[in-house]
Order: sequence, then structure tokens, then C-alpha cells
Amino acid sequence: MSLAFDLSQAAPAIVAALPKTPLLGLTRVELAEALGAVGVPERERKMRVAQLWHWIYFQGAQSFDVMLNVSKVLRATLADHYTLARPDVVTEQVSKDGTRKWLVRLAPNKLDRTAGGLGSEVEIVYIPENDRGTLCISSQVGCTLSCAFCHTGTQKLVRNLSSAEIVAQLVVARDRLGDYPGLTAPTDGLIPGEGSRAVSNIVFMGMGEPLYNFDAVREAVGVISDGDGLTVSRRRITVSTAGVVPQIGPLGRDAGPMLAISLHAVRDDLRDVLVPLNKKYPLAELLAACRDYPGASNARRITFEYVMLKGINDSAAEARELVRLLKGIPAKINLIPFNPWPGTTYECSDWEAIESFSDIVFNAGYASPVRTPRGRDILAACGQLKSETEKLRARAQWAVDDEA
Ligand code: SAH
Repeated sequence: MSLAFDLSQAAPAIVAALPKTPLLGLTRVELAEALGAVGVPERERKMRVAQLWHWIYFQGAQSFDVMLNVSKVLRATLADHYTLARPDVVTEQVSKDGTRKWLVRLAPNKLDRTAGGLGSEVEIVYIPENDRGTLCISSQVGCTLSCAFCHTGTQKLVRNLSSAEIVAQLVVARDRLGDYPGLTAPTDGLIPGEGSRAVSNIVFMGMGEPLYNFDAVREAVGVISDGDGLTVSRRRITVSTAGVVPQIGPLGRDAGPMLAISLHAVRDDLRDVLVPLNKKYPLAELLAACRDYPGASNARRITFEYVMLKGINDSAAEARELVRLLKGIPAKINLIPFNPWPGTTYECSDWEAIESFSDIVFNAGYASPVRTPRGRDILAACGQLKSETEKLRARAQWAVDDEA
């Protein structure tokens, strides 16, 4: 974040007219800059950053007033210039299986292509299970990859999310779930019990290709995993990629999360169709990058996601080839039943095909859980996310046409 001028010098009238800068999602370095911009002397900044960090991320504070260990004067200055506002939650849907999906509207950005200057929208999905609560977050608005079976891929890329916007998705979910120490969740039996956090795991499996927004994802992983703040450890953060090979090594070295690869095919000719990025980075290169992934071990396995498409990639021969390809890589295989969406010609494999595929992989010594589709009734399952922006835009267009 760079502020163009020193706000502490601005006349009160100008200050009042300026839109307040959001602090939510900032890194420690950015927070220190923000404090510097309102005149906090350098020697005090580290201590002030630690205080703000605790309030914003650990306690989930939504107002400067509650920060009682910060002097009254500084609290007032912060409130004059900054805001702790969250992105707006436009809709909240709860699936009958407990999955929750929120559509949030981000602050407007000059790169947004929305009608009426509204901010872009992203979807966040929360999946509660017995031993964990996983939050699926997005790294981009839309996606450039155009994977043949993915609904999100039919929406064009609008823009990258900033690191702060990525972090804000977790904060919004914690707000909605009441997931802060000492707060009681609006519990309806769906949220893990006291003592454990409702959101324990993060997956970058929402909209977008995280490794095409590398710097923001790296910074966001840093903020989310910070032990004094949001405290989701790097071992509980998984970044999923369709295979942007040159960024896989740097991801492990500079950010250190768990890695997931959207594999989906074991031959280049088929993968070229299903995941067109394969034409640029074919299987051999992708698997070589996985072999070298920093930090991968039997205790920290790489997840290979494999969507089960009827008659396309689900034969026993392909299961055996998958085992052969992954030899030597500490891997687990996640079989994902295809989630259909309006307009797709693909179908989900029959249950027997999924089972025999899974048996072959399992007998070769790999964990091969079949991912239970979650939240299908609210279009929250893998590949079904697509921001409402497009539909709204189409609706706005009809309204204009109707009036004409
Ligand atoms: N671009 C990244 C992050 C998206 S992850 C990546 O490709 O890994 C979303 C996961 O859901 C990917 O594994 C994707 O291949 C899978 N997916 C997409 N559409 C799906 C669908 N209709 N049914 C099941 N899984 C799907």
C-alpha cells in the first residue's frame, strides 16, 4: 500500500472529504505505513502495529473504540482516517448439509467491469465437518483458464484480488460464524464445538488461479497464518493450482502452504482439452515440479484432484496410469464427483466407476478419498462458483432493453 501524501498534515475539512482507507487485510508492513501516514513516530510503530494486529485479526474488532490499550487520541486519529469496514455480504445461503455460501461485494476498484460502478463480487464457501471447518476462498474475480468442465471458467477474468481482499474473506466468514475467542457463535449445531475454531482450514479452491496472482496469495498466506492473529497454520492452508509450473517452487519456498494440483487426466492429449493450461505446461513438467516441491514429505503430501467425468477419464486403465505417474511423489488423491452445472455436456461418472477407480488407487498405497459433494443445492460445490455479477449485469441489460 502506498499513500500519496502525509494525511497528518491535511486540513480537517480535506480529511473529512476523503474516503477512509480500509485497514482490514493489511500486512504488518502496510499497517506500519498506515500508522506512519497519520504521524505515529517510527519508534512507536512496531508496538502499535502489534496492538492493532491483535485487535483486528485475533479479536475481530470492527471499531477502534474497543481498542482500550491504544490511547484515546490515537484511536480518534485512526477513526478519522481509516475504517475497519468489511466487504458487504450480499447474500448468505445455508445448504441442507450445513455448507454456507456468502456472496460478498468488494469495494469498487478501477479494474472492475460492473454495471453502475459497483464493486466486484466473490463467493466464499464454508464446509463444516466433524473434525474441521474448511473455508474455500477465491484469489481472482473470474478466471482465465477456461477448464472445460468448470463453471467458474466460463466467467472471464475481471481482476486479481489484492492480498487484503483475500484475507478479508476469512474475516467475513469469522464474523458470520461468530468465530472469535470469547464470542459465541450463532450456533445451530453446524459449527464445531467450543475450544476449536469454526474455520480451522483454508483452501484456495474458489474462483481464480492462485498462482496467476502469486504476490497477493503469498502475502495473504502470511497474514492468515500469523500466530498472533488469524492463526490458521500453513499446514492447514492449501493452495490449489491447475499447474502454473514456474510458480510452484516459489510458492513452497516463499509461502509454504500445502499444495494441491488439479490433475484430472493422465495423458497430455486429454489434459490439453480438460485443462488447456496443460498445452503450456505439460504433465511431465508439472509432475517434475511436484517432485521438487519444497517441504513435501509423507507427512505433508501433495493432493492431486481428479474430477470423475463419465466415459472421459474414469477407466481402470487411467487409474493404473495415475498410480504410475505419481510414483515417488508423496501424494494423496482426491476423487471429485463431477458437479453438473447448467449448460455443461459432461456427466458425473457412475458410482461403480468411481469405486473401482478408487480401489485401484487405494490398493497401490494411496489415500483416495472420494470427496462428498457439499452444498450442491446452493451451487456451492467445486466448480459451481460463479459470481452473480454476470447474471446481474444481464438482468440490468434486459431492464434497459425493456424500457427502450
Ligand atoms: N484454479 C485453481 C483453483 C480452483 S480449485 C485450480 O484449478 O486448482 C477448484 C477445483 O474444483 C479444481 O480442482 C477444479 O478442477 C475443480 N472443479 C472445477 N469444476 C468442477 C466441477 N464442475 N465438478 C467438480 N470439480 C470441479
